[in-house]
Amino acid sequence: MIKYTVQCAKSHAFEGWFKDSATFDKQAKKRQVTCPVCGDTKITKAPMAPRLGKSVSKSTSHEGAARIAEVAKALRAEVENNCDYVGSQFTEEARRIHYGEADARGIYGEATLDDAKALDDEGIPVLPLPITRSDA
Ligand SMILES: [Zn+2]
Repeated sequence: MIKYTVQCAKSHAFEGWFKDSATFDKQAKKRQVTCPVCGDTKITKAPMAPRLGKSVSKSTSHEGAARIAEVAKALRAEVENNCDYVGSQFTEEARRIHYGEADARGIYGEATLDDAKALDDEGIPVLPLPITRSDA
């Protein structure tokens, strides 16, 4: 048995147990799966994501954004306090540290998306630093 999160055409998500994927497809096609909220029988597998829709009201998503901004600010402050600012030398310096040519330490600075991706490809961990409003 497999538990699937499925949803009706009105995006009511609910869970159901099915023998396997093919069984779900067959039952859904024959409209044997019914939405417990509205009785709809047009059921599809829900995309795997955090619970969305009804449960997220405008006010909670606003609170969430505020919390993210707070976390971003704290993270940025921590990086600024503990890491060396290397500006546009970031990519070069990150490589030098990675290959033991410079002292191992936390650094931060500017890098283009391509640079960050190249570092990542080389196995050098890069964390995008959130930009806070004080930058503006
Ligand atoms: Zn429904």
